[in-house]
Amino acid sequence: MLMEITNEAKTYTKRGKPASYIPELALQSVEQFAACIVDQNGNYFEVGNIEPQFTLQSISKVINFIVACEYHGLQFVLDKVDVEPTGDPFNSIIRLESTAPGKPFNPMINAGAITVASMLPGESVKDRIDYVVDFLNRITDSPHQINEAVYRSEIETTHRNRAIAYYLKANDYLLCDVEEAVETYTRLCSLEVSTKDLAKIGLMLAGNGVHPLTNEKFITPKTAKVTKALMTTCGLYNASGKYAASIGIPMKSGVSGGVLCTVSNGKVEHLEGKLGIGVYSPGIDDIGNSVAGMKFIEKLSQTYDLSIF
Ligand code: GLU
Repeated sequence: MLMEITNEAKTYTKRGKPASYIPELALQSVEQFAACIVDQNGNYFEVGNIEPQFTLQSISKVINFIVACEYHGLQFVLDKVDVEPTGDPFNSIIRLESTAPGKPFNPMINAGAITVASMLPGESVKDRIDYVVDFLNRITDSPHQINEAVYRSEIETTHRNRAIAYYLKANDYLLCDVEEAVETYTRLCSLEVSTKDLAKIGLMLAGNGVHPLTNEKFITPKTAKVTKALMTTCGLYNASGKYAASIGIPMKSGVSGGVLCTVSNGKVEHLEGKLGIGVYSPGIDDIGNSVAGMKFIEKLSQTYDLSIF
């Protein structure tokens, strides 16, 4: 069954296009498809090559939010960024001005994520990046680095995010300089992970912060639960509601074509219990979600009844 789902999903790879507004991402081949599921006992299901690295893009918003909450406490973070879905595109500016005093709606859209980036622990961009990279290295038990070519390609064209950051600064929603916040945010979007790493992060969240494979506690249950609520309500851009209805799994996608999913309890063939799922296929739709990736998860959820609802 899993292979049938995979084969069907693969027929969708060419229906998407790689993100073209970040020139370096436009070079990704849409034919790639990889998926990894890991369960609480360390059983794996893998399709395609789950080792190659790609950039996190918006999935970094999840990691950064977790780091900020663990460092400052949830309430401190929520004083600066809300947890309301918007239904707007990820890089929308419109509500910052229309809803005084301009508090960003949630940490999964760019405005909220830039605020969160400005809260990351450290006195410099380098400190903040090192802190997050170290956290990611520990969860995945593997080293990670920034893809400089993707970072360069985005930072030179990120005028819209800069505009958002200036607006946030004007309303006191940035804890550091505008340029530092934009650089931190953009560098962390360019942090590389593999499909397998996404599955491991998903498994840690499925364990509510305790990694089922090592019993190591990475984050508090409170942070894990708010993060999963945000992933469910805001994780798939302005298609989050649609996918909550058809899939019903906490997920976060990024414009590089990755999707991070977490399942608190499920059975997928020989895998069962807590599950982490990572998918990568760089052809995305107009909203920003991987076309083949979402098809895979949709079929998986429907076949194995994984919806939380
Ligand atoms: N670095 C991208 C941006 O801010 C991330 C977008 C995404 O994956 O949604 O535009």
